[in-house]
Amino acid sequence: MTKLKNKVAVITGANSGIGLATAKLYLKEGAKVVLSGRRKEALDEVAKELDGDFITVVADVSKDEDNKNLIEQTTNHYGNIDILFLNAGIAPPTPTTDITAEHYNEIFDINVKGPIIAIKEALPHINDGGTILFTNSIVHKKGFDGLGIYSASKGALRAYARVLTSEVKSRGIRVNSIAPGPIDTPIYGKMGLPEDVVEEMGKGFAESVPLGRFGKSEEIANAALFLASDDASYINGVELEVDGGLSQV
Ligand code: NAD
Repeated sequence: MTKLKNKVAVITGANSGIGLATAKLYLKEGAKVVLSGRRKEALDEVAKELDGDFITVVADVSKDEDNKNLIEQTTNHYGNIDILFLNAGIAPPTPTTDITAEHYNEIFDINVKGPIIAIKEALPHINDGGTILFTNSIVHKKGFDGLGIYSASKGALRAYARVLTSEVKSRGIRVNSIAPGPIDTPIYGKMGLPEDVVEEMGKGFAESVPLGRFGKSEEIANAALFLASDDASYINGVELEVDGGLSQV
């Protein structure tokens, strides 16, 4: 359990779902972890169930000053960063006819601007040979009704990751993305949809996945460990689908 021994890892959206599962796994593998989330109470709650060397930092990724503060607190406490996992995201659906500028801005501020500003702040403090990892999604490869803005945000992030891969090449920093399929996390309860609609949507997703089920947060965390570790030392610039095959059918 030492694949990330003494590596400093920053994870956004670490108080829930994929981010929390990854924080737990990284800690198990010997990393020093900075768990970042929007709400202090949620971070305090998850801190109780964690073992290992970690700190929590409250940061709303849509706020530039919070991203700056997140990196400052990380470097003050642990020094330079080895793994930056940009994972926080939201996916509230809206059919195109109902889209508002607020809806667009909220999703893009959190899903696109947030990670980009965090990277800008972090880059001078990421060790050469480090890793930048995005939680993207398969949504930008397939059409899912009502998820236009969310899909566009993840497509934008993928395009950005390609450029970043090249921009950091002289420093040996690897930039990779994970594209989850439907994963059983609290995100579905935060979509602002009635429970029965979410349930129906869930059934539809599960039926269309070749493996016939939702994925688990831990299955994404396993990919996040692999991509951040030396096991993936020659994997760079990719988007790894962890989706039970959904994007391929
Ligand atoms: P989740 O709701 O459990 O986790 C999302 C995390 O992002 C939470 O910790 C939340 O607090 C945080 N967050 C949201 N807005 C934030 C903000 N403004 N500032 C800081 N943190 C903020 O859901 P999850 O499924 O674990 O989502 C993690 C990532 O996975 C997201 O980027 C999401 O788009 C992506 N994803 C999820 C699925 C899925 O089916 N669950 C599929 C594809 C991609």
